[in-house]
Amino acid sequence: YGDRLNSLGRDYSQASERARHAAALARVDAEKLTSGPIVGGRLMAGIAPQDVTNPFDRTQVLGHVSEASPADIDDAAERAAAAQIAWDRKGGAGRAPVLRAMADALEADLDRLVALLSREAGKTLNDGVAEVREAADFCRYYAMLAERDFGGEQPLTGPVGETNALVLHGRGVFACISPWNFPLAIFTGQIAAALAAGNAVLAKPAEQTPLIAAEAVRLYHKAGLNPDLLALVPGRGETVGATLVGHPGVDGVAFTGGTETAWAINRAIANRQGPIIPFIAETGGLNGMFVDTTALREQVIDDVILSAFGSAGQRCSALRVLYVPKDSADGLIEGLKGALAVQVVGDPADPATDIGPVIDAESRQALEAHVARLEREARVVARATLPTGANKGDLFAPTIAEIPTPDFLEREVFGPILHIHRYDPAELKTVASRLAARGYGLTLGVHSRIEAFAEEVMRLVPAGNVYVNRGITGAVVGVQPFGGEGLSGTGPKAGGPNSLIRYASEKAISVNI
Ligand code: NAP
Repeated sequence: YGDRLNSLGRDYSQASERARHAAALARVDAEKLTSGPIVGGRLMAGIAPQDVTNPFDRTQVLGHVSEASPADIDDAAERAAAAQIAWDRKGGAGRAPVLRAMADALEADLDRLVALLSREAGKTLNDGVAEVREAADFCRYYAMLAERDFGGEQPLTGPVGETNALVLHGRGVFACISPWNFPLAIFTGQIAAALAAGNAVLAKPAEQTPLIAAEAVRLYHKAGLNPDLLALVPGRGETVGATLVGHPGVDGVAFTGGTETAWAINRAIANRQGPIIPFIAETGGLNGMFVDTTALREQVIDDVILSAFGSAGQRCSALRVLYVPKDSADGLIEGLKGALAVQVVGDPADPATDIGPVIDAESRQALEAHVARLEREARVVARATLPTGANKGDLFAPTIAEIPTPDFLEREVFGPILHIHRYDPAELKTVASRLAARGYGLTLGVHSRIEAFAEEVMRLVPAGNVYVNRGITGAVVGVQPFGGEGLSGTGPKAGGPNSLIRYASEKAISVNI
């Protein structure tokens, strides 16, 4: 798209790259980072200060965060509304250079950001690099869309003597509420979309990841964005999040997170007085992959391991239930057990690690409780080995379990647990329909050499993103526009050609000449 391709990666087989990574980790460890409300470009005192710790080593305090007070939010909203008018008038071509400068700034700071992603969010080296690249991609892609769609009037047809045109403009101030699992890419991407469409932003990161969010906001300001156009308002969902959603100065909400939270926000928006504001929600998935007997076993194993356990299973797109034909299930499950056994679970900052910790103790305990249910009501087939040694932080042993029914899971289980269901190919329709009946619609995988099989699965199971004969995670901006339907989200897809439309208002202008 436009002036350059997607952001480039790093080659960590080079000792020099690994040395840069180690040096960046040491620098981040030596600093005491601060996050808190950033309003008008200034870090405010905020309220309720807290330590931010490393999920792999809870004794390591990375820095501190304070929560945005109601007064901080009012101040930020007022500044944002005032600054938004001139920003909107700039048009897409006037706004795009700031977004491109942000992309460049992210790439220039890659080592530091990767180190911080590892320490604060438990990201492995590969995941950290992918995340910085994705954040940069969002900025460049939305800069391109801003130029394409916000470049003046789109002419329409009309009778002789009348001109008709459509113009897009920003809605005002957007609240962008993001999750911890892509604390840089989603945080930066939501903001980039809202800004590209001509809005100002009040950004609330997840409680677990306020430090990387503060870095991103500082980079936006350094890239030339008027600080009043982007405020950081960290804090808890039930306080800061709820205040933003109900705030009269907020003209739209972009949210990525769990389905239950989306329901709560949707209800809160419904109770607002005054203008009806848009709600863009990207939520969870109960993602399945269907394999038939023509699939290539080694490829399936590779793709399943990466899709289910990559990023410690903490991707909305991650594979939750693998459906395997009963006659070939034993061999495939044996292969998966072998592949899981060689996964390295441990310190995410170590380049040799495949799977890092889960985000916090609450998440780890919920996953352990789920494994206890699997032990009672299903069959745990394998668990990966955790490293020996005292410190394990919030490491959780990745798990494979066989489930007795195709819809054993009622809702998303957010972590490295792969569920397998053996199905009778004669029952495909029933099995797929029972998964579909859960109501999600995010990602779907198919492994088969038979086109008609893939088509049938696609027809039976709703999904925003379908992947055939490959893994089901790692959507790339501009390549696989990403987002779900049903319980999984409202759209528009992130990183796709229609991404900006709900961030904008449309005005049709008819002139009698
Ligand atoms: P979450 O618990 O729903 O939280 C997401 C954000 O919403 C956080 O900033 C949270 O604040 C905030 N929040 C909570 N309650 C709120 C309220 N009443 N009003 C306003 N904001 C509120 O989700 P998460 O655990 O951070 O992230 C994991 C979930 O995100 C998974 O379900 C995953 O599938 C989904 N996800 C979806 C996509 C996608 O593109 N479809 C991408 C990534 C993740 P706190 O910090 O206080 O929790």
